[in-house]
Amino acid sequence: MANIFHSIFRAFSPSLWGRGGAARSDRAGVGPRIGFGYDVHRLVEGRPLWLGGILIPHTHGLLGHSDADVLIHAICDALLGAANLRDIGFQFPDTDEAYRGIDSKILLRRTADLLHRRGYRVGNIDATVCAEHPKLNPHIEEMKAVLAPLMDITTDDVSLKATTTERLGFTGREEGISAYAVALIEKTE
Ligand SMILES: [Zn+2]
Repeated sequence: MANIFHSIFRAFSPSLWGRGGAARSDRAGVGPRIGFGYDVHRLVEGRPLWLGGILIPHTHGLLGHSDADVLIHAICDALLGAANLRDIGFQFPDTDEAYRGIDSKILLRRTADLLHRRGYRVGNIDATVCAEHPKLNPHIEEMKAVLAPLMDITTDDVSLKATTTERLGFTGREEGISAYAVALIEKTE
């Protein structure tokens, strides 16, 4: 029995640990790459609620150095992660006065430009926003129409979902809104 396991190990090991190492470095960045992003911002009175690139009527808005668009930030982090370009705080530091109050759509466009310069194109995005209020489903199609062209993709390639957390946790208590995103990117050359 031990010989069988040994044979199986030998059959798979070259691609996992052996010459596969050299092969991987030759092919660095080729093929589809996946990235993940997560962000949270606090809800406060007296701020506009920017989410998915649009202004949504609400009693509270998100607090942050920029416009605090938590959905766009999660998407930026997913894209940057897919290209192994760190994260939004690294690329656009919140200590930089240039980014104070900035429209996050500009950050998403700059993120897409960073990827394009490295030979990547965006494949598709899938994201989920966790918020108790306001209800986001009526705004999803408008968000997709705003976000897709910033990444040079169509609305078919932008999936946006909204959920509550069943009144549990900080989103359930309406202390903040969180967003998760995954992104697929591909080399164009
Ligand atoms: Zn953020």
